[in-house]
Amino acid sequence: RAKMEGRGTWRFFEPSMDASLQRRRAIELDLREAMAKDEFSLYYQPLYDLHLDRICGFEALLRWHHPKRGMVPPDQFIPIAEEIGLIGPLGEWVLHRACEQAVTWPGEMKLAVNVSAAQFRDSGFIDIIADALAASQLSPRRLELEITESVFLANSAETLATLHKLKAQGLRIALDDFGTGYSSLSYLRSFPFDKLKIDKSFVRDATATHGSKSIVRAVISLGRSLGMTTIAEGIETVEQLNHMRAEGCNEAQGFLFSHPVPVTEIAAKILELRNGFKTSALRNAMAS
Ligand code: C2E
Ligand code: MG
Ligand code: MG
Ligand code: MG
Repeated sequence: RAKMEGRGTWRFFEPSMDASLQRRRAIELDLREAMAKDEFSLYYQPLYDLHLDRICGFEALLRWHHPKRGMVPPDQFIPIAEEIGLIGPLGEWVLHRACEQAVTWPGEMKLAVNVSAAQFRDSGFIDIIADALAASQLSPRRLELEITESVFLANSAETLATLHKLKAQGLRIALDDFGTGYSSLSYLRSFPFDKLKIDKSFVRDATATHGSKSIVRAVISLGRSLGMTTIAEGIETVEQLNHMRAEGCNEAQGFLFSHPVPVTEIAAKILELRNGFKTSALRNAMAS
């Protein structure tokens, strides 16, 4: 309804505006100032190598600490940032900050950074990546960009050119939330991804419903035959972990290993997960 009325046609919180629209408008206004007020931070969630059986990196996840609303989840503000043209500077901040932080991590840990479609399509994106790498001195081999299938809604020749230029810098590209988008198998053949990230909705159901189980199996085998790594996101139970391992998935990520943590907890997470993953029950038993 808001879209049909057109953006910018009202200035005030009219009583007729419904609550969700008011909230959205308020978030929009606050978002414009949040960067200057230093309200953003990055949390990091471990990526776990199932073959080496140890932590192999972290995914950077943006957090907004709103002075009144508390933590606003990215699903609630990133789409707005995209619409109001703020994702460019915000995404650039994320890249610079994440690379700066990751360069200090021990053990060649990888860094995965989410990139929104609007950001990816920006003509300056290649240079932004090059700048973030140069400024931080992070090896491009350690950087992985996570894009979603929505980038393919735009000009595919340009998308392909951008992907090739990025890969020429030495970094890797992962396709996030795989299976939830406008999935067309043809672009898996045409686009040089390094990794498929199996969406958590399939992971959640893979141990329960036959359909999801088959999809997971097919994606892993597709990845393998196309030379792409597979990672399962949203692993919450030991059963899901064992299932993904048995299916030959390369990596895993989820609350079972760790929730996303602030940068101050990175060193502890590496120590905790570098020699294999123990379930908390096992850890407790060993500690006592
Ligand atoms: P995503 O890239 O697919 O990230 C995974 C999301 O799943 C994260 O939510 C993470 O906290 C959550 N997650 C991880 N493990 C589990 C689990 O075991 N169970 C469940 N239920 N969830 C789990 P988060 O941090 O709220 O981020 C949501 C989305 O916001 C991300 O999805 C990504 O699309 C976007 N996002 C986050 N940070 C950035 C950023 O810096 N730039 C851009 N463009 N998008 C970002
Ligand atoms: Mg992601
Ligand atoms: Mg995802
Ligand atoms: Mg997601």
